[in-house]
Amino acid sequence: MARKKKIEYHSYYEGHLRYMACKVCGRYQNVGEEAIGVKCSRCVNMMMMNNYPLETKPSYIPTGRPPGWHFMKEFVDKDGNVFHRGKEVPKLKGTLKPTKVKSPKKRKTKRRTKEQMLVARHKEKKAALKKAVKKQKDFLNHNIDKG
Ligand SMILES: [Zn+2]
Repeated sequence: MARKKKIEYHSYYEGHLRYMACKVCGRYQNVGEEAIGVKCSRCVNMMMMNNYPLETKPSYIPTGRPPGWHFMKEFVDKDGNVFHRGKEVPKLKGTLKPTKVKSPKKRKTKRRTKEQMLVARHKEKKAALKKAVKKQKDFLNHNIDKG
């Protein structure tokens, strides 16, 4: 399989098409004549994710709106904008109280409580074990005393 290769930045021609290796992962892709170094779309996306995770992560809502607010029958944001199932209703703006949004802080507390519960359970187990050991010791002592 003979390939015409004209190496610049890991690039080669196939017919009139110029291919160049992605700078990051090395995957070849079709590029223009003037390209010096390229990244494939996958790596560009990855880079975007790394640089702007807040913009590309769909789970992050910078507006302070709760996840799934656009599925809610009625949602009023903190500026008084009213949305019915995600559709803005401009004439209702300012007429309704903002929908209360559960803050992420609450979730943190929940997690801490769970941890605390685990710690408490662990302590309980330890205490129970201690009690059991003591009971056994008492029992043995008692037996020895008797015997
Ligand atoms: Zn790549």
